[in-house]
Amino acid sequence: MKMLLDGQWVDRDKKINVTDPFDNSVVDTVPAANADDVKTALAAAVKGFEITKKMTVYDRAQILFKTADIISGRLDEFATIIAREGSKTINEARKEASRCVNTITASAEEAKRILGETIPFDSFPGGEKRKGYYYRFPIGVILAITPFNDPLNLVAHKIGPAIAAGNSVILKPATVTPLSAIKLVEAMVEAGLPPQAIQLITGYGHVIGDQLVADERVRMISFTGGVEAGKRIASKAGIKKIGMELGSNSPVIVWKDADMNLAVESCVSGSFWAAGQNCIGVQRLLIHEDIYDEFKTKFVDMTNKYKIGDKLKEDTDMGPMITEDEAVRVEKWVAEAKAKGAAVLTGGGRKGALMEPTVLENVPKDVTIHYEEVFGPTVNLYKINDLDAAIKESNSLPYGLLTGIFTSNVDTAFKAAYELDCGGVMINDSTDYRLDSMPFGGVKYSGLGREGLKFSLQEMTEPKVICFNLPNM
Ligand code: NAP
Repeated sequence: MKMLLDGQWVDRDKKINVTDPFDNSVVDTVPAANADDVKTALAAAVKGFEITKKMTVYDRAQILFKTADIISGRLDEFATIIAREGSKTINEARKEASRCVNTITASAEEAKRILGETIPFDSFPGGEKRKGYYYRFPIGVILAITPFNDPLNLVAHKIGPAIAAGNSVILKPATVTPLSAIKLVEAMVEAGLPPQAIQLITGYGHVIGDQLVADERVRMISFTGGVEAGKRIASKAGIKKIGMELGSNSPVIVWKDADMNLAVESCVSGSFWAAGQNCIGVQRLLIHEDIYDEFKTKFVDMTNKYKIGDKLKEDTDMGPMITEDEAVRVEKWVAEAKAKGAAVLTGGGRKGALMEPTVLENVPKDVTIHYEEVFGPTVNLYKINDLDAAIKESNSLPYGLLTGIFTSNVDTAFKAAYELDCGGVMINDSTDYRLDSMPFGGVKYSGLGREGLKFSLQEMTEPKVICFNLPNM
């Protein structure tokens, strides 16, 4: 497949193989962009903004509605690309493709709700005879950098609202999963987006990243990825807006009055969705001691029923990790925990990129799998008996994206909701629940700012004040 630069789909002799992590077959190739391509993208994005900022809201929204229609009509094609280039099973991929339709549709709807307000200038002395208002304007070139784990919908979460707001975009998708992003941009162009409005550049972050990030013509960076890349991007960005959706180490509290079956089912799914490569995947389960043994037995039983393997088979529950190296990393983290006293209740094995769904208990606090984001199919069980202590434990790490609590007591739920330090608390759901239009983001190392279409549009526009001094009025 090709990249889109200055209105043209272009190729390069130097290519990157996009491989299926299940069998290492080459799905397709993309060009490996170089420094000249970055220069072209940056200059073209500035020209693109001259076009997008003049487009009407109606036109922007129509293009997005049509894009959603196109994807909706080709859901299987999009799902197959997601499943082949990444880790998701075909069923997980279908859900992502459907969510992408929602994300683009909601971007179109929100384009029509970019509102301003009148300003009461006469509310303090000195403002008499002044009348005015503010409206929100697009900020210019937005650099969207996206991760591998939701290769379609997380791209839609950036380019949907960026275009809805009237910005131009430079999109740099994850190098291991660029194909879904290319298909999405193709659909947008087919839907009528002027091709100059978006530059899609495929290449390694460590090669082209700094040049893109540091350029002053980029007015906002919208980044989703890991903390390490996030820190580097922040250090190179200079004076521009930055939105960061980073990782987590999500805790879920299962209180003694929880609906046991609901809690087990949603926490198993939340732990192993996309082979655990999910920023809101469950990593720490804090279970009340009164129900610990029953929960553990049911959780392990359900995990043992997971079918892992070929992503394209309808009955596969979990696919491989994104690369064998990543699976080796997780295997090592499990081994480190085991060496320091953790018990492996099930899983722990690996074949190529396929890591077994793994459940641990008695995990000491000084091991990597306790305090770092694992981003793999493992989950740690901890016994608790005090709500304050469980909340303190949940808040103890430098992340805070979503947190979950299972309880049938409204007081317990309220206490947890207000004392958990994070971007959202899911009550009677695992952390793995997200509505695409809710404000989504984290505190501490989990991020800066919020996505979720209405909220992305706020971040991707700025208010401009218009004030009339009317001395003769
Ligand atoms: P990653 O390694 O940080 O990469 C993310 C993106 O950043 C890729 O496109 C990557 O390009 C690019 N990149 C890397 N270094 C860069 C640099 N110096 N300058 C510019 N771009 C650079 O993350 P990942 O492994 O793809 O994704 C996993 C991480 O994303 C996890 O930590 C997960 O929690 C987080 N995540 C967060 C959310 C959220 O909404 N909070 C959602 C999904 C994932 P290359 O691919 O070329 O390296």
